Amino acid sequence: MHILEKVQQIYKERYICLYCLGRCFSLLSTQTTNKERGEALLLTQVMESHKNYLSGDETAREDALKTLKILAECAYFVPAQKVLEKEGYEYNIRTPEKKCYLCNNIFQELNSYINPILEEIKGIEFHNFLVGTSLNPEIGNKEDRFKAKLNLFEAESFKSHFNRELGKLLSSILEKPTEFTYPHLTIICSLGYESFSVNLLIRSLFIYGRYRKLIRGIPQTRWPCSKCDGAGCEYCNYTGKMYQTSVEELISLPFLKAARADSSKFHGAGREDIDVRMLGSGRPFILELINSKIRTLDLPRLKEEVNTLNKGKVEINDLAHSNKDKVINIKQDAKNTTKTYKALIEANKEIDKIDFDEKLRQLKKIIEGEIIHQKTPQRVAHRRANKVRNKKIYKIEGSYIEPNLFEFIIQTQGGTYIKELITSDDGRTTPSFSEIFGFTLNCKTLDVIAIDY
Ligand SMILES: [Zn+2]
Ligand SMILES: [Zn+2]
Repeated sequence: MHILEKVQQIYKERYICLYCLGRCFSLLSTQTTNKERGEALLLTQVMESHKNYLSGDETAREDALKTLKILAECAYFVPAQKVLEKEGYEYNIRTPEKKCYLCNNIFQELNSYINPILEEIKGIEFHNFLVGTSLNPEIGNKEDRFKAKLNLFEAESFKSHFNRELGKLLSSILEKPTEFTYPHLTIICSLGYESFSVNLLIRSLFIYGRYRKLIRGIPQTRWPCSKCDGAGCEYCNYTGKMYQTSVEELISLPFLKAARADSSKFHGAGREDIDVRMLGSGRPFILELINSKIRTLDLPRLKEEVNTLNKGKVEINDLAHSNKDKVINIKQDAKNTTKTYKALIEANKEIDKIDFDEKLRQLKKIIEGEIIHQKTPQRVAHRRANKVRNKKIYKIEGSYIEPNLFEFIIQTQGGTYIKELITSDDGRTTPSFSEIFGFTLNCKTLDVIAIDY
């Protein structure tokens, strides 16, 4: 059927506004708005009819008048009304109240949704945004029935039309662009014919940095109590935590305040044991600030604040803005990095320097540049999959301190269990320091002194 015939069919059925008319044919022609499209459809008909009225035969004039009346009376289209007046015909408007059957004049009154939105986003910093809509089914269902009845196959959905129009209007008022992939703020409108409410989705803010952990005895991240799962019980002194604090908590507090965020997540590039220090230039991390109302942070000032607050405990450096993709990267990269450890090792037997040097020579010969095999250590077996990890040991340096006390610098592939490399973990790591020395060695203290990226 001819498009223009279809338009007349629509208006014989119901009055719809220009926005909705244009939407019914949205997939036809591009680079124009639905309202312009709707207006063009009606104006073309008025012009066509006027021409037929002026130059056609009797039947053509009759048809032209019929069309003009539909457009004047059912579509309330002013140019049609004017042509009829000019040619001396009367027309009767069908109902005095012209509410669009499909949108109930939502599109004409788009401005009325602005204030509730402005109210909701007050005090939130964002540089771009996106409008999303949760449509009351009454709107969608009505439109679907209408499209089906009139065979409107080239229509756009109400929802995408509304999102775009409101997005354009907001963009000009806020003077901020819309962003489809990573919007800082998603404004979710719940829209019904007589109802409207707003919900916000704030994109997390990601801050990259490197941390140094200068003390032993604190975990990297908040560690919920194993007895109560964080709820608080006698065992954890009602803190809900196994350890009073963590690297995460020490670092995140000033950020949470500055960003006015609800909570945070700490993403480390691997982690060291609780009793292991993290020295050198530190371990990369990304702090995710959830629901942060402020996005522009003074990173140098925050660095100072964190470092002053945690002097002698935790230190951060190299702060920079980051994003979600980089969180995945630092986690994956952690396995491929080279890590250097300093281990103070105690032997259960005393040996002299010459003996030590000979053992060290064997150790270097057997392990340096080679792959070692580690079954999941007994101490983590309850939370790690039981498998064999093959890790490369790049370099070992050793020094003799006392007959039963040695220091080793060990450079390995990321993810190597160092304590087990030394003790052998009852033969689960092989080869190991203990195996090669021929007696038991134990790791007294351990520090990570470099992570190479
Ligand atoms: Zn409408
Ligand atoms: Zn507890």
